[in-house]
Order: sequence, then structure tokens, then C-alpha cells
Amino acid sequence: MASSAVVVGAGVLGSSVADRLARSGWAVTHVERLAPGHVRSGSGDESRLIRASHGADPLHAAMSRRALELWRELDPRLVAQAGVAWLARTADGWEAESERVLTELGIPNQRVDATDLFPSVRTDDLAFCLLEPEAGILHARVGVRALADRAVEAGAERVVAVARPDGARVALDDGRVLEADVVVWACGAWMPGLFGDVLSLRITQQDVFYFAADGQWATPGVPGWVDYDGAAYGLGDLDGRGVKVAPDVDGPPFDAQTGERRVHPEHERFARAYLAHRFPALAGAPLVGSRVCQYEITPDTWFVAAPHPEHDGRVWLLGGGSGHAFKHGPALAERLESWIAGTEPAEPRFGLGDRHRDTSLRTVGEL
Ligand SMILES: Cc1cc2nc3c(=O)[nH]c(=O)nc-3n(C[C@H](O)[C@H](O)[C@H](O)COP(=O)(O)OP(=O)(O)OC[C@H]3O[C@@H](n4cnc5c(N)ncnc54)[C@H](O)[C@@H]3O)c2cc1C
Repeated sequence: MASSAVVVGAGVLGSSVADRLARSGWAVTHVERLAPGHVRSGSGDESRLIRASHGADPLHAAMSRRALELWRELDPRLVAQAGVAWLARTADGWEAESERVLTELGIPNQRVDATDLFPSVRTDDLAFCLLEPEAGILHARVGVRALADRAVEAGAERVVAVARPDGARVALDDGRVLEADVVVWACGAWMPGLFGDVLSLRITQQDVFYFAADGQWATPGVPGWVDYDGAAYGLGDLDGRGVKVAPDVDGPPFDAQTGERRVHPEHERFARAYLAHRFPALAGAPLVGSRVCQYEITPDTWFVAAPHPEHDGRVWLLGGGSGHAFKHGPALAERLESWIAGTEPAEPRFGLGDRHRDTSLRTVGEL
């Protein structure tokens, strides 16, 4: 049984793995170039939706449900149980499939009148509204720090350094070379620069916008929401940050390390138009903030959690969050531990082989 691990990256995925392995008794070294959940990382925003609906796919639905338990176990204050409302534009589309899977898995869901959920909402283009009452919003950056800190409390050593692969070892920019039974690379949008020869990831610029609203738009109260066919999602005003609108259209190619964090004008136009369309009372609401982030997208939007083709299973690659990995972090780490230890076979769809283009796990649109 392996007993030492180096985990590189302290976004949600690396921090979840460091935490999981350290609490299982592994000797863990957790390497991060900056701080857990820093502003350029994909995990560095204030909020992330946690929802179980994944269309016809039960694997992600169950994993998200397990993750919800694990987030609460970490700290119940990390989860704002506001519910997530699915604004379904068709009667028999993704939301209807989600409804079927959630019901089969015993995950609470119900059709509701959207006008009961939002102070102002347009519904004439909706077939129905599906509410996941136990879903909600994660305090993202705070959650990543909590995971990384719990790893340290469990014995992990945190190292601030830039790492690069050196065969099955980890070379640091301070000159040290780390060796362990297992190395897990969870470097988000930086993965193509490290493992571009074996990974197929597109890095795109994604922007989120926050609009001013009065107290009746507070979340919880107002749920998180997803308009799958409208390629947009968001939430009400969490902690006074403003009503969040996130266009889920694939943005232009982006470099997470060197890219200027200025929102794309077309994304802002999309967000303002969406807000005016869906929540008419907020048409023209002033922008109070924005954030530039990035997706690291696999061809089929399934994550990567796989052994490197060399190094006899001692080096694992974890990433390809594809715009929807945050919620799953602790549950994915739990599974990864069993895959690394060989007590369960790894999920083949998270493998490094060829993948067919399929964007169905998250809403996606074109500009
Ligand atoms: C706008 C937006 C909205 C999203 N909304 C949701 C949502 O509502 N729900 C949801 O579940 N998911 C959502 N996601 C997706 C989710 O946030 C990401 O999939 C997830 O945060 C990625 O985590 P990660 O750990 O893979 O990468 P990151 O958080 O980027 O972490 C990678 C870390 O590795 C470090 N690193 C990189 N290279 C090195 C190196 N060489 N040496 C040392 N350290 C290194 C980086 O500094 C970084 O801290 C969203 C993403 C975006 C951009």
C-alpha cells in the first residue's frame, strides 16, 4: 500500500486530494505556486453552484450528492442551501432527464412555479421550472482554503513553489526534487503547459458579472438558477456581492498565467441582455463587479482523473474541470484515493484516451 504522496496544485481538486490522502494517513506534501484559491485559479471565485442534476448521467449526480455531504462535514457554513432552479425551455430536454435521474436516485426535486422563487422573472419561454431544494451555493474560495488547511492539520506539509515534472519526480523552482510513492498533478489551466503531450484541454476566458439589487434578491431566499438552453446561470445576492450572472458560452482562448483579467465586452453584453430578458425588474441594474476566470475544457466535458501513460501508475493527472468541477472536489478525491490505491477500477470516462465531442454535462453556447 502506497504511503507517501506529492500533490501539486491547491485549487479545489488538489486541495481535496491533499486533504483526503492526509486524513487517510498518507504522508502528503502539497505544492502550490501561490495560495489556495488564489485569484487566477479556477477555484478562486466567491461562489460556485452545487447541483445534482446532470441530465441523463447518474454518475455525476451521485458524486455531487456525496460531495454535498462532504462539504457540509467540512463546515456546514460553506454551503448556502438556497436551492437551485432549472429554467427548462423544453418539456423533454435536459431538465426532464435530470428529473428522472434525480428521482431514481432519491434526490429531492420538484416542479415549481418560477414566479414563486424570484421577485421578477420572465416565464413565457419556459416549459417548466425544476427545483432542487437541497442544492445551493458553495462559498468557493473559503472552501478551498478550508480543505487545504484541514490537510495541514492532518499532517500534510504545504510548500509554496512552482513545480515541474521530472519523470515520476517533482522538481521545484527552489532546486529541491520531491519523490513519493504517488504524485498527483492538479494544476487546472496550467496542465497543458505541463502535460500537453498527453492531455487535450482547451483553456477559455469566462467572465462573471454582479449587478446591484435590493434586499428582496438576497440568496438564500432567491435560489441559484441555471438556464441550460440559454447558456447562462447565476444566483441572487450572496453576502451583498450583487446578483450574479454567468454567461456559459465558451469564451476566447486564454492564458491563465499571463492573461489580462479584463472582461470580454461581448460577455458583458450577453450578461446584461440575459438579466433584462429573464429578470425584467433588474434590466439596467448597475454593474457592481465582475471577475475573469477560465475553463479548462475536455472534448466531452468529463473530467480527467487518470494515471499518466508512463511511470507505472505512480503519476496521476487530475483536472479538465470543464466549468463544472468545483462542487465535486471532495467526492472526486474520495474516489481517486480508491483508484490510486487500486481498491477500485478507475472510471474509464475520466481516462486520457480519445474522446468524442459532447458538451452535455454543462450548459454551453456559442457567442
Ligand atoms: C466562471 C466560472 C464559473 C464556474 N462555476 C462553477 C459552478 O457553479 N459549479 C462548479 O461545480 N464548478 C464551476 N466552475 C468550475 C470550477 O470552478 C473549476 O472546474 C475548478 O475550480 C477547477 O479547479 P482545479 O483545482 O482543477 O484548478 P484551479 O482552481 O485552477 O487550481 C489549480 C492550481 O494549481 C496551481 N498550479 C498550477 N501550476 C502549478 C505549478 N507548476 N506548480 C505549483 N502550482 C501550480 C495553480 O496556482 C492553482 O492554484 C466554474 C468555473 C469558472 C471559471
